[in-house]
Amino acid sequence: MSGRRVPLGEALARRLAGTSALRHLDRFGWNPLRHPDLRSGRMGRMSEIDGMGTERATCVLAPNPSMMTLDGTNTWIIGEPGADEVAVVDPGPDDRVHLARILEKVGDRRVGVVLLTHRHPDHAAGAARFAGMAGAGVGVRALDPRYRLGDEGLAEGDVITTGGLELRVLEIPGHTDDSVAFWLPADRAVFTGDTVLGYGTTVLEGRLGDYLSTLERLRELAGEQDVATLLPGHGPRIDDPAGALDGYLAHRRERLAQVEEAVRAGARTAREVVEIVYADVDRKLWPAAEWSVQSQLDYLDERG
Ligand SMILES: [Zn+2]
Repeated sequence: MSGRRVPLGEALARRLAGTSALRHLDRFGWNPLRHPDLRSGRMGRMSEIDGMGTERATCVLAPNPSMMTLDGTNTWIIGEPGADEVAVVDPGPDDRVHLARILEKVGDRRVGVVLLTHRHPDHAAGAARFAGMAGAGVGVRALDPRYRLGDEGLAEGDVITTGGLELRVLEIPGHTDDSVAFWLPADRAVFTGDTVLGYGTTVLEGRLGDYLSTLERLRELAGEQDVATLLPGHGPRIDDPAGALDGYLAHRRERLAQVEEAVRAGARTAREVVEIVYADVDRKLWPAAEWSVQSQLDYLDERG
């Protein structure tokens, strides 16, 4: 795509290199610069994400890059080769230029259904408008009823068929409680939304216990079904699903161990844990840390 070769990752890396901001982000697990490909300067280019995919799936990158959305939101067009109907996953923000561009990529095929991985506006805000642009009667299917258009929702075990395509729905709470993944057996690919990102780690709005179970479930699927690729809601595709999921699990368990250690040292509240674990971090970031630590304490409590 001409005219939009923005080396976001590199620009970001240059801006953050050696700053305390990077250290703080790293501490929260938000460091998008940890990805080895990004560090080596091979990645972080929008032009490499836009248009990526598998035999059946193609990414249309939304122009909404930020610290939280990385290079922008990945919208996915999925269709059987030669079929006249496709599914669109996560139309993205309510950005008319982006929505029109998705339709342009759909071309003369029909949009059979619009699917949402979860309710966050960078994935869902443009869905209703996009469905309207795509034609009369095009529905939006989501786990959360508030984000649906039409009668059909999404639930664990649903099989979505459109234009000969088959997608299987997995409920994967954690990032949010309405997060779902779509398993595309024909390409051995899983659309992970924000549950697993192309690089960095995700921020949890849901419960940590749910998120850990979700990661374990995806890890199992990766092994059992020999999953070849994860197609995330942000960032590049992941071609080593098992390795990436093992890394996510290790990262979460490591943070949990730090909190457990602080509790053993006498910390009783989230604030007290933060005072120990985040002692050398700017106090302005403590409230955010407290929120994340609280979910870890809740999890340790439930686990007993
Ligand atoms: Zn999200």
